[in-house]
Amino acid sequence: MDWLPCGQRQSPRSQGSRQAPRSVRHPAARRTQQAWRSHHSGRVSGQSLPPPAKQGRGGVTRGPAALPRPPYWKDSRPVVPWTRSQQECETGSISDEFLRNACKVRPAITTSPNGHRTTGPNMKKRVILAGGGHAHLAVLADWAARPLDNTERWLVTSSRHTAYSGMLPGWLAGVYRANELLIDLKPLVEKAGARLVISDVVGLDVVAKTLSLSSGDEIGFDLLSLATGGETDISNLATLRDRLLPVRPVGTFMERWSTFMERTVLTNTVGIAVAGGGAAGVELALGAETAIRRFFRNARVSLVTPREGFLSGHAPQARTRALDELAKRKIDLHFAQAAGTEGGLLLSNGHFLPADCVIAATGSRAPRWLARSGLACNENGFVAVGADMRSSSHDFVLAAGDIIDRIDRNLERSGVHAVKAGPVLAANLRAVVGGTELRQYQPRRRTLYLLALGDKRAILSWGRIVAIGNWVWRIKDWIDRSFVGRYTDPVRHG
Ligand SMILES: Cc1cc2nc3c(=O)[nH]c(=O)nc-3n(C[C@H](O)[C@H](O)[C@H](O)COP(=O)(O)OP(=O)(O)OC[C@H]3O[C@@H](n4cnc5c(N)ncnc54)[C@H](O)[C@@H]3O)c2cc1C
Repeated sequence: MDWLPCGQRQSPRSQGSRQAPRSVRHPAARRTQQAWRSHHSGRVSGQSLPPPAKQGRGGVTRGPAALPRPPYWKDSRPVVPWTRSQQECETGSISDEFLRNACKVRPAITTSPNGHRTTGPNMKKRVILAGGGHAHLAVLADWAARPLDNTERWLVTSSRHTAYSGMLPGWLAGVYRANELLIDLKPLVEKAGARLVISDVVGLDVVAKTLSLSSGDEIGFDLLSLATGGETDISNLATLRDRLLPVRPVGTFMERWSTFMERTVLTNTVGIAVAGGGAAGVELALGAETAIRRFFRNARVSLVTPREGFLSGHAPQARTRALDELAKRKIDLHFAQAAGTEGGLLLSNGHFLPADCVIAATGSRAPRWLARSGLACNENGFVAVGADMRSSSHDFVLAAGDIIDRIDRNLERSGVHAVKAGPVLAANLRAVVGGTELRQYQPRRRTLYLLALGDKRAILSWGRIVAIGNWVWRIKDWIDRSFVGRYTDPVRHG
């Protein structure tokens, strides 16, 4: 994968899906494709690809490159970083056979055959963080700064890298390279003295105190912190099939957008629609417009949202500024509900909107597996928590970020709250382990939002105060880069 950081190789399957069709021989089309590749690549320019695998006897490919490595966002193998086998896998200093065995999915790492924790007076408490996104980064940093005594700490998350969503529209617009918004969780987890397990949580049993993983493993815990975020709600759009690009999981979205753009630069007619008029939908529509019109001035970009969903929660002045910007950039705005069909979107006002690609930024839906967990949830399935972020039904489960619903107040689902709740969550996990008093997360009355416009300008929206310009984008750029730098810069977290 062009933009894959850390020298990871893509699988032959995904390589195949990214290749240009062989029939494309026109020099102009090839030039456009090369321009797109070099523009959007995550590689530092001039950096070469990993060396090809050596050919062994009989044409059999030998060496680590012979092993098909899935891209990291699909990698479901548990990673236990400090084990000999894993380290040697990565340095490639061992025999192929050993490498193959070492990279096989390991059996469940549990304390008893059924995955339950066995307790005893000197037993370490197992604390599991589920989800390696915005809310849990501060917890990992806290553990790295100050060990959490008498605990065994785990992070279970679907991908080794987590993307800072605030920079995603900028990546789409070509302002950022992929490696500028991706945070590698492995060094953070190592520093925190924790275990990293790359797998999806697919079930939770609060009676047995176990998590079920997509790898088939079941792991027991004493204390659980949930921050796996929400899922993109695509219930009305699924018929679009390949044309649909849900914005979450972000890694998959980035891969599929790259594939779409590579294919698109070879054709002449392009229609992109973004479904969802929240901050993310507006930013993505503007970012997509910048990206696509760089190659095709006549490309059609549309934003579809119910009127009441257009930047809801923002001041009318912020909505007006955004409307002006969409009009200036010739992005068609449709105030309607959208339903997916095979060739595009059918709108509730009767119009049909043909689209080659529909980006779904339709808001968060609670993960389905929560419904069977036994945890108290609200009517939409989000975890019910108090101000101390403890589950209202089970005091050994804490939760933060997009997966929660506060029982004491309304709190919008946003990265700002996920990030700001992080240090309080870290303190409260410590307090539960130590048996001390928990803190409360009380957000400020007004939240600062900076909406990227895809052209190095941004809208500032803070209560009734609204501003627009390049200076706003420079502030946003500084804030975003500082955040990512806090978790990626080896000098700062080393
Ligand atoms: C394009 C876009 C732009 C945005 N811009 C802004 C912005 O400018 N400002 C703002 O405040 N908010 C913004 N948001 C919203 C913000 O991204 C979310 O509110 C925030 O990410 C929520 O944090 P979280 O920790 O709950 O979840 P996430 O940050 O989504 O992290 C979830 C983590 O859990 C992992 N995971 C998911 N499912 C599972 C599973 N089943 N098992 C194990 N691991 C799992 C994921 O890989 C990920 O690492 C934006 C969102 C999008 C999509």
